[in-house]
Amino acid sequence: MAPATDHADPDRNTTAVLPERVDAVLDRIATASNRAGRDSAEILLLLATKTRTPQQIAAAVELLGERGQRIAVGENRAQEIAKHNDPLVRDNGVPRHFIGRLQTNKARDVVAFADLIHSVDRDDIAAALSRRAGLAGTPKDVLIQVNTSGEESKGGYAPRPEVIADVAARLHEDPWLRPVGLMTIGANTTDEQAVRASLRLLRSLREDLADPAIAELSMGMSADLEIAIEEGATIVRLGSAVFGARPSA
Ligand SMILES: *Cc1c(COP(=O)(O)O)cnc(C)c1O
Repeated sequence: MAPATDHADPDRNTTAVLPERVDAVLDRIATASNRAGRDSAEILLLLATKTRTPQQIAAAVELLGERGQRIAVGENRAQEIAKHNDPLVRDNGVPRHFIGRLQTNKARDVVAFADLIHSVDRDDIAAALSRRAGLAGTPKDVLIQVNTSGEESKGGYAPRPEVIADVAARLHEDPWLRPVGLMTIGANTTDEQAVRASLRLLRSLREDLADPAIAELSMGMSADLEIAIEEGATIVRLGSAVFGARPSA
């Protein structure tokens, strides 16, 4: 029987098996990269930190650092940004990304927090981020989020070359935003072909742009990271594969 403290301290439960999960995930990245003829060192592992505590994040950051993996942390809830100021994670030198659905009234917090914002999914968000980046006096790197699956629940611009070219051109004209890549959330299905098609579409949109500034492809989560790496992801966003299943609350 597990010691009583395991029940009293949820962090203990998750951190005890963390090394196994970290090694398993690095193995998955290495295997998929090999299969695709890619160097796994070119892939950034973004830790999706929603619902996780500073203790859990600090433990994962430390383990991944020990194993030499290049990482970022990615928050997708503006109301969870504050936890990244916890002394356990504040000065760890890990780049911070914002990956969630944005609201214009949170633009200031997100601009202050993130080195890279993945989720520019509509024009009024770009305008709000630009305004806040301008007030802060620092240009901000952003990704253009594309709805490659056509699922209505998902944000993002339509996956058409002329739409993305238009958004990219407008972002390039903005003095405070620098478009550096594209982001998508793969089709939410167990049909591997459908997932692959949505991720491949993001890559083909990048090829269509043929814009050397727009190099990043943020795609792939715990369930589809192999497909994403095969299809050219430069950033994979992983939560449950590293931290375990999310609490459902
Ligand atoms: C939560 C989240 C992830 C990670 O999801 P997992 O399935 O837990 O790996 C990736 N991207 C976004 C935008 C997320 O919100």
